[in-house]
Amino acid sequence: MMSESFSDGKWVATGLRQTPPTVILTFVRCLLLLPVALLVWGCSEVPITHREGLHLVPESELLTLSFQEYDQVLKKSKLSADQGKTHMVRAVGEKVARSAESFLRDSGQSAAVKNYHWEFNLIEDDKTVNAWCMPGGKVAVYTGILPYTQDETGLAVVLGHEIGHAIAEHGNERMSQALLANMGGMALSVALSEKPSETRDLFMTVFGVGVTVGALLPYSRLHESEADRIGLMLMARAGYDPREAIPFWERMSKGSKAKTPEFLSTHPAPESRIENLRNYLPEALPYYQKRR
Ligand SMILES: [Zn+2]
Repeated sequence: MMSESFSDGKWVATGLRQTPPTVILTFVRCLLLLPVALLVWGCSEVPITHREGLHLVPESELLTLSFQEYDQVLKKSKLSADQGKTHMVRAVGEKVARSAESFLRDSGQSAAVKNYHWEFNLIEDDKTVNAWCMPGGKVAVYTGILPYTQDETGLAVVLGHEIGHAIAEHGNERMSQALLANMGGMALSVALSEKPSETRDLFMTVFGVGVTVGALLPYSRLHESEADRIGLMLMARAGYDPREAIPFWERMSKGSKAKTPEFLSTHPAPESRIENLRNYLPEALPYYQKRR
């Protein structure tokens, strides 16, 4: 939107010189809306890390949009006819979901539990190596990721990670940032009424639902490490061996040389991922050992 460059001994805003009225208006709008939004919705604490995440979107609006968009995705997709695999996705999903709810209660966030209306669906698409969780616990797994997950434990790694992003409410942060960057800081309800299709596209991009890799938005390094850490706790509490997260991410980064899997595009693997996972294991392992 606006960039600066050093010229003739002073900083100039190059973006402002190119398209002054629109950019200035958008920028002023951002500045005016930001403090109001902060006062109204403010921040929310991420479980475990206790980081304050910036939440500019009211949760109820995000949930309404999420439930509508999830139904749309299901309508447009072909659900797997394989009852065994579908049952496995739902069974592992439900276990990780129960573990997420007890984790939220233990973290002093019992009030958040009511926002989750868990749903797990397996989409028949062997070419798409992906899985995502929209706000409110609406999860999709594509059959293309199953060769990487291999079994229930591998699936628990993916679902733990995805649900980890969800309960850390990374989606609200991403949607807040996307509205600031692309819609001049418009409130979600205003954006939906003024630019419905752009806003829905933005939502799909934010939650990794894009069909083409070019349209996918990677999670930040910080969000990735929070989801990894919470994911290990969730799978361990659900009775799955959290050590299996390491071979899963290794399979993911070694496989598919020809095309980067969608899952890796939205969840980029920092060099330090395996090392971080090893560091988080002592925190998660006791929960798994207690379940055995
Ligand atoms: Zn991730």
